[in-house]
Amino acid sequence: MIPQANPGAGYRALQPEIDAAVARVLSSGWYILGTEGKAFEAEFAAWLGTGAVVGCGNGTDAIALALRGLGVGPGSSVVTVSHTAVATVAAIEMAGATPVLVDIDPAYFTMDPDALAAVLQAPPAGLPPIRAVVVVHLYGQPADLDRILPLCRAHGVAVIEDCAQAHGARLHGQRVGTFGDAATFSFYPTKNLGALGDGGAVAVGDPELASRIAALRQYGWQRHYISDFVGVNSRLDEMQAAILRTKLPHLDRQNARRSAIAARYNEAVQGVIRPPIRSGAEHVFHLYVIRSSTRDDLQAVLREKGVGSGIHYPLPVHLQPAYAGRVQTGPGGCPETERASREILSLPLYPEMTDEQVDTVCAALRSL
Ligand SMILES: *Cc1c(COP(=O)(O)O)cnc(C)c1O
Repeated sequence: MIPQANPGAGYRALQPEIDAAVARVLSSGWYILGTEGKAFEAEFAAWLGTGAVVGCGNGTDAIALALRGLGVGPGSSVVTVSHTAVATVAAIEMAGATPVLVDIDPAYFTMDPDALAAVLQAPPAGLPPIRAVVVVHLYGQPADLDRILPLCRAHGVAVIEDCAQAHGARLHGQRVGTFGDAATFSFYPTKNLGALGDGGAVAVGDPELASRIAALRQYGWQRHYISDFVGVNSRLDEMQAAILRTKLPHLDRQNARRSAIAARYNEAVQGVIRPPIRSGAEHVFHLYVIRSSTRDDLQAVLREKGVGSGIHYPLPVHLQPAYAGRVQTGPGGCPETERASREILSLPLYPEMTDEQVDTVCAALRSL
């Protein structure tokens, strides 16, 4: 079976380099917040084209830290989409804020600017004021920032870009993660830039915000062992930082390989909706997601032909048991999100796929 994602193949492709990086950390005697972490933060910031990067434990913590760094917590509502990893919404609640979930644009699967405008105009009654928007660049596709950023500016709300699936994606030539007040990344092993364990980062342009977030990730320490404010423990360890430093120089090439595979799928796929690319955008194809009203049948046919697939995500956050009836949606609810969750299917896509594996998937797609 060709898996939908394959982090083990990502390790094997760079095994000698990664093993050397891990050995370097093991023999250094320093395992948390040291030279590897500092170097990765600087290298990732330079690659992204932003002011500063602060490493942390995972992509969920990164969102919570960014919100807290911006002063968004209890007494604030935060708008995001229901069609996202549950992590996005969990992070808003971790920060103590109240999530409000809006619908997606059905073509691109990212936040519908009209739904955002509607909730900013008429926030749900009884909720604290909206102070931030977490915009998710889902599947590797930039969200509609051309419309979302001016809306947020007009209403005085902060913008956090959730770039967990979009390392390297661009809009009008500029990398996502450099548009908002803060941006967050996950280095979960299957992401476009994946560690071999957990990892995350916050990217910001403002150095003062960066030092506040750096303190928040470690008990609010700005001086040794003195908490000037209440923080958490969410650190990127030296081993993961060294692995990420090894993988970062390969990321642009790997993203190009993802796009080339997506182009092959575009030619082969029929009878279903292909993933469109927003005008002015460079999609990095964390996921290649097709859409069909007979999704479950397609998945079974592909499985018979040895082609694995995934569903990202099968149940919108606002309908999940932990959130249903408790977390509010914007005016009009999330009908497009609910429809998408029944129709989407993620095909195998990782840079180390062989041409033969891509051919196998394409043949299966032609037979649908
Ligand atoms: C993976 C992911 C996260 C969370 O990242 P973790 O490192 O798993 O905590 C958040 N948002 C989105 C959109 C993701 O895909």
